[in-house]
Amino acid sequence: MKPVREPKINLFKKSAPLKCKVLKNIPLTPDPGNGKRPLKEGMSSIHRIVLGIDHSQYPFVIGQSAGIIPPGSDPEKVAKGSDNTDYAIRLYSISSPSYSMGMKEDSIEFIIKIDNTYDENGSVTHKGVGSNYMCSLKEGDEVTVTGPAGKNFLLPTTDFSGDIYFCATGTGIAPFYGMTYELLEHKLINFTGNITVIYGAPYSDEIVLKDEFLELEKKYSNFKFITAISREEKNSFDGGRMYIGHRVRELSEQIKKSFANNGRLYICGGPKGMEKGVFEELQKILGGSSDLEHFAEDLKEKKQLFVETY
Ligand SMILES: Cc1cc2nc3c(=O)[nH]c(=O)nc-3n(C[C@H](O)[C@H](O)[C@H](O)COP(=O)(O)OP(=O)(O)OC[C@H]3O[C@@H](n4cnc5c(N)ncnc54)[C@H](O)[C@@H]3O)c2cc1C
Repeated sequence: MKPVREPKINLFKKSAPLKCKVLKNIPLTPDPGNGKRPLKEGMSSIHRIVLGIDHSQYPFVIGQSAGIIPPGSDPEKVAKGSDNTDYAIRLYSISSPSYSMGMKEDSIEFIIKIDNTYDENGSVTHKGVGSNYMCSLKEGDEVTVTGPAGKNFLLPTTDFSGDIYFCATGTGIAPFYGMTYELLEHKLINFTGNITVIYGAPYSDEIVLKDEFLELEKKYSNFKFITAISREEKNSFDGGRMYIGHRVRELSEQIKKSFANNGRLYICGGPKGMEKGVFEELQKILGGSSDLEHFAEDLKEKKQLFVETY
């Protein structure tokens, strides 16, 4: 059993970053126009990016993010006449566990969605700088990395018997893949609770890593994988679109018991603010009269609620 690492932050800064080589760039969603998403809604291309990284040089902990500096000059900074025209750092959640997936090769993985903006006809109005750069990388390309970043969105570091709920939208699934893998496969701590992943996406072909999660579900009786496909499924409460909050409501009894026994719920993904829907469901389940913000803060202080939305 490998020891649990304490999170180290900012070992590599923008002024002295780390250079890494691309090992793999795997598209996880259908080509635009070939999937369930209509072209007029733009595209939702998600890629799995694997970089070679020496774990002793860059000792990340699952739940942290890495910074990426896109190459070139930021035209807005150039137009302003700024002295330093480098692009700002883009953060990406690390999706591989604290040690490499198979522990054979030193690597780090990300799940990245091309983040463009579209008009009502589906024409691009802004091409996301960092996400397009990352998703078009080729094997052998060099990437400039900073970090690791973040020290609050982490797994328990000692033996844990509570249940864990991972609620994700879109690329929010990234850290939960590595977390699930680390708890069940690498067993860095003695974990004896249950894990439930609740994963929301607009279309079923935008649910990525499904086969990998279903494989884990087959192998471990304490692991459940649940999806909420908003444009394809109706919720049983008001017949409207199915969101992750509805799945949380369906599990009310179970979640209540889990929280009474030190259970934890993690939320990750976007858009920022989506966590409020889950907080509301949790408050209905757990009760309490404080306002939503204090309710959530209280759970965060007790280390029962962890939020990373962007
Ligand atoms: C802690 C953390 C973890 C994250 N993890 C992930 C992850 O695992 N996977 C992932 O895919 N993303 C993740 N992100 C988001 C990621 O950091 C980037 O924000 C995202 O990839 C967009 O960056 P970009 O450079 O592609 O887009 P940018 O070029 O920075 O644009 C971002 C958005 O701003 C708007 N915008 C900016 N400029 C213009 C303009 N001129 N005109 C119109 N609109 C504009 C658009 O809506 C655009 O979509 C994470 C963010 C944080 C904070």
